[in-house]
Amino acid sequence: MTVEPDYLRINEIKNYLYCGRISYYTLCLMLDRETDLSKGGIREEQEAKKAMKRRKYALHAVHDGTRQFDVDVVNHDLRYVGKVDEMVTTTGGVYLIDYKDTDRDYGYWQVQMLGYQLAVQAMGYTVLGCYVYVIPKKDYKPVTFKPKHHQQLGDILSALRDMVETERMPEATSNMGKCLSCQYARLCNDVF
Ligand code: SF4
Repeated sequence: MTVEPDYLRINEIKNYLYCGRISYYTLCLMLDRETDLSKGGIREEQEAKKAMKRRKYALHAVHDGTRQFDVDVVNHDLRYVGKVDEMVTTTGGVYLIDYKDTDRDYGYWQVQMLGYQLAVQAMGYTVLGCYVYVIPKKDYKPVTFKPKHHQQLGDILSALRDMVETERMPEATSNMGKCLSCQYARLCNDVF
């Protein structure tokens, strides 16, 4: 998919909610570091997708439809792109599924999923439901949205654009636990 260079990635929304500095390192310093940890997560996701294609009780069996994996989505109004892990197309509309290698939600599942939903709607689809598939538990969790999530999504997109324009580094996360497993820890001298 070809889009303008100023389009944000939905993953940046997730990163920003985890810690704004990660977005700064990736968007302003162009550092996009992969660790064994993140590679492990990606590998798990890919293996889960392969297994899901064979699973009888996968969501496509619950909602009879056609399954597609790694679907590119774009929202031209809000200027962002993303990739939905799985989309099930039924006669009445589509279901969206995001795969997670943990059941720990750091507070971004809903906003990230809302980003996918708004993009898919902007592409002309009717979205009937959104789910997170938790790989270790082999479990679907329905994801629903409130007005505050729409507000949060808009605020994050604005904050990210402002950060890129001013190149101002955000404050470190107040949760030191996140820093201990962060791939950018060596860059945050003020935290340790
Ligand atoms: S080390 Fe901590 S403050 Fe620095 S980017 Fe990682 S999570 Fe954020």
